[in-house]
Amino acid sequence: MVALIGILALQGDFARHRSKFDELGVATRNVRYPADLDGLSALVIPGGESTVLSKQLDAAGLRAALEDFARTRPVMGTCAGLIMMARDAGDSKVSPLGLMDMTVRRNGWGRQVHSFETHIEGRLNGAPTSLPAIFIRAPRIVEYGPAVNILAEHEGEPVLVSEGRHLAMVFHPELTPDIQVHEYFLKSLAA
Ligand code: GLN
Repeated sequence: MVALIGILALQGDFARHRSKFDELGVATRNVRYPADLDGLSALVIPGGESTVLSKQLDAAGLRAALEDFARTRPVMGTCAGLIMMARDAGDSKVSPLGLMDMTVRRNGWGRQVHSFETHIEGRLNGAPTSLPAIFIRAPRIVEYGPAVNILAEHEGEPVLVSEGRHLAMVFHPELTPDIQVHEYFLKSLAA
């Protein structure tokens, strides 16, 4: 199967995700309308601003199409993208898609320090690994159900999680030279 990855391109940091897949030799397509989802292997919901993203999904008529897409195909969300994938965004201005059984708190990592870069320890493909992670007004995962797997933590809290075919993280893997997260997502497509 030749993968074609969709990048939700309504708002936010979509171009940097495209560059990561370029680097891995995988084709991408910007997604702005429901028809753009046709034939995609998977979708990335980038970081940005979840309140805006939430409104734009409805304005573009993409909400039902994305929910339908996610029933059979993998979705990866970063930062605001993770907020959109949650069951509960903890904020009446955001209507999340409910793709993963978790409750988040917007800007939950942002109070003490607005934005920071660190290394997080995790496990990908069964092996321990260290990942550079940039947190920008990052959400905190405050509650999660038993189907959610913790792939990496920061200060004892989950920051990179999966549930079924979906993958989500509170940080921005597209902003560092590291390629592990995008590579991991691609591997899960082949599984
Ligand atoms: N704080 C933003 C929100 O609530 C997310 C920030 C980001 O995506 N870097 O949507």
